[in-house]
Amino acid sequence: MKVLVLNCGSSSLKYQLIDMENEAVLCKGLVERIGIEGSILKHEKEGLDGKHIVEQPMKDHKDAIGHVLSAVADPAVGAVKEMKEIDAVGHRIVHGGEKFASSAVLTDEVIAAIKDCSDLAPLHNPANLMGVEACKAILPDVPMVGVFDTAFHQTMPEKSFMYGLPHELYKKHGVRRYGFHGTSHLYVSQKAAEMLGKKPEDLKIITCHLGNGASITAVDGGKSVDTSMGLTPLEGLIMGTRCGDIDPAIIPFVMKKEGLDADGVDKLMNKESGVYGMTGISSDFRDIEDAAAEGNQLAINALDAYAQRVKKYIGAYAAEMNGVDAIVFTAGLGENGIGMRETICADMDFMGIKLDPEKNDVRGKDRIISADDSRVKVLLIPTNEELMIARDTLRLSNR
Ligand code: ADP
Repeated sequence: MKVLVLNCGSSSLKYQLIDMENEAVLCKGLVERIGIEGSILKHEKEGLDGKHIVEQPMKDHKDAIGHVLSAVADPAVGAVKEMKEIDAVGHRIVHGGEKFASSAVLTDEVIAAIKDCSDLAPLHNPANLMGVEACKAILPDVPMVGVFDTAFHQTMPEKSFMYGLPHELYKKHGVRRYGFHGTSHLYVSQKAAEMLGKKPEDLKIITCHLGNGASITAVDGGKSVDTSMGLTPLEGLIMGTRCGDIDPAIIPFVMKKEGLDADGVDKLMNKESGVYGMTGISSDFRDIEDAAAEGNQLAINALDAYAQRVKKYIGAYAAEMNGVDAIVFTAGLGENGIGMRETICADMDFMGIKLDPEKNDVRGKDRIISADDSRVKVLLIPTNEELMIARDTLRLSNR
């Protein structure tokens, strides 16, 4: 059984072909600049000397997916002999609203329901659906499954997802907290339980997904009970270019002072803020860490503020769950930011959190990084959203 996992953005897509017998990645790649001049596919397979590059015009997602399938089934660089060997396709879908609490086979009704959620994710859902339509056109008989970033958080109780706003806004427009990165939070929480030799049902875990986008989730007994992202991915932690939590009164204040309209302030908070906006240097934490090491005060302050926000959520979620057994770090900065993990976990011994500096001196490996006598275990777990998507696709496609 071979599952193709697709993650389609508006002008790019990522893919992996996974053999479900042993969950091995057979090949993977990335297409960029779909529908723009300079379309490029970069395909990788183990044992291949460097990347296989295709530079050809790709006017839409159907063109791009056609090239992906050709690469996947190419005799020289591919991983299967013919496209027929692809048994199912799993699609990452960003927003499932309240309609999807779990993954779903992409029937016409399901696709229509995803379109209905597009208002809530106008940049993401239409792009995800372009990938679904393109794939259906090329592989009409292959089962397709949608796996939603929001689904894992549908277990949040109302007290976690309701805003202090007029109830009408929830009724009329679905204004509530949904949360994102659910596939990642679910994967690392399950993996953490496995690494600790316990059942997820017996654990209270706080999962910190710290990538370009960042969110933190309280997982109680295997279920998401609170998460830091909200109606959109803007809420919560300070991120690469997103501001995270701010006083909402800042929005009308800045709009008036700077003469911005709704789109202008939306762009400011999503693309021009976060550590990028705070420092004017970069959204990449490696650049911020380099600048901080050279004494740049804005970079030092941004890293401090970033760590402080994560710490604040850890404290809040431990309070909400009446305790915590494990904290997990994942995604780009969570997996690689040795110093950041240290700063976040510093001075948390009152809560029973004690990092072991030697064990923490590692990047991108499954590992328990807390001291042996730390009451709360701290774990580093590289996320694997693609594998979760492939597992659900296998389960739902009845192959
Ligand atoms: P995305 O949300 O795009 O999937 P990733 O999970 O790949 O993001 O995280 C990307 C971010 O991780 C980068 O922008 C960078 O800030 C951070 N990162 C990656 N490698 C390192 C590293 N070695 N040290 C510090 N930060 C890193």
